[in-house]
Amino acid sequence: MQSFQEMTLEELIREGGYDCDCGRHHGTGLKYLKIGRGAAGFLPEAMATLGFKKPFIVCDAHTKAAAWERVRPALAAAGIEYVLYTLEGDPIEPDEHAVGALCMNFDPRCDCVLAVGSGVINDCCKVLAHAVGRPQMVVGTAPSMDGYASNSSSMIRNRVKVTLYNACPCVILADTDILCQAPERMLWAGLGDMLAKYIALCEWRISNIVTGEYYCERVAGLMRHSLDKIVTAAPRLMTRDPDTIAAIAEGLILSGIAMSFAQVSRPASGLEHYFSHLWEMFAMDRGLPTELHGIQVGVGTRLCLHIYDRLRAVTPSRAVAEQAMADFDPARWEAEIRRIFGKAAQTLIDSERTLWHQNDPANHQLRLNRILGHWDELLAIMEAELPDTGRIVSLMRQVGMPMRPADIAESEQDTRDAFTGSRSIRDKYLTSSLLWDLGLLDTFPLDT
Ligand SMILES: [Zn+2]
Ligand SMILES: [Zn+2]
Repeated sequence: MQSFQEMTLEELIREGGYDCDCGRHHGTGLKYLKIGRGAAGFLPEAMATLGFKKPFIVCDAHTKAAAWERVRPALAAAGIEYVLYTLEGDPIEPDEHAVGALCMNFDPRCDCVLAVGSGVINDCCKVLAHAVGRPQMVVGTAPSMDGYASNSSSMIRNRVKVTLYNACPCVILADTDILCQAPERMLWAGLGDMLAKYIALCEWRISNIVTGEYYCERVAGLMRHSLDKIVTAAPRLMTRDPDTIAAIAEGLILSGIAMSFAQVSRPASGLEHYFSHLWEMFAMDRGLPTELHGIQVGVGTRLCLHIYDRLRAVTPSRAVAEQAMADFDPARWEAEIRRIFGKAAQTLIDSERTLWHQNDPANHQLRLNRILGHWDELLAIMEAELPDTGRIVSLMRQVGMPMRPADIAESEQDTRDAFTGSRSIRDKYLTSSLLWDLGLLDTFPLDT
């Protein structure tokens, strides 16, 4: 089988997908994709191709200003009827309130959903489309995140950041005439969301060895390819030259396809995303606004690169790891989770007790044996997957994006709490889980 990174976009999204020797079938529900100048004008053609008649269109005030005057004339010229709904709020949180508003305003005469926006709008529309059983399309307004083509939404449910798996849009129109106008911070965010992939791929392979989690080299290869595409174009990002923005958009969409193929967020998201998720949860709890996802993730990526630089210099010790486990006090852990997560803590504590058992000494022993028995292999993975930290830091500096927690008003304490809490928010094996297993998490230095 040809490797995914050698395929064209059309081949990647072909009907029927691909059977892979990882044992999974890789396919995407994406059927129509246009990237480039004037792509929004292809909306009537995309709809005709898929047999859609009347879209329920969702935007917010910003995305309406950015793209509606490119979408509306195309619909008018083709005589397509639609229902337009503008989500209120600034910022809009992707939570029960937003999805509830969409469901309550959805017009059942519409046979498809069209998201006009980027992260939040697209994520909410995926949930809506899934709930009302309609296919979804998107006209992107910013190259700010990699969720356009993914089959999941990053949402807030019961005040906890969760990934909801639904379906990827069947139409994506990435119009560089719109994307080039995106605010500077959104361009940074797209780059930050992609730099994360270095950490995500490294962690995915580590987890595959330590926990036996599913891993697919072909999907990882596709993600590495989309990452290369973006890092190559990144130095010209701020020129907003349409070819560069198109390359960035293509990389972000490829990344989403890789996620759809894997059916899990693993190839796209690791500990760097958990810094972001936890910062966001803290801000929500305090009623404060949050920074853009990709910008937080970029800052998290820099933190992770430094963590790995330190970790690679460590010689793991069975004695240290076993002593830390022997000293582990479930009551103290629970108190700490309550302090870090506040109202969201109970769900996590219950999940650990009944489902995850990550703190169980026998499970720790199994993981530790795998880590110590494969340490050279783990080091080789870090060597292969991680870029030179200095190179990434200078790229971030060159485009002028925030790099340190303090640059986005995150305190040392919140950053430390995000680091500590990350391993308890899901049963996902992260770099922080590895450090906990080695008995190093509590005192491991962070280069904030
Ligand atoms: Zn595979
Ligand atoms: Zn992301």
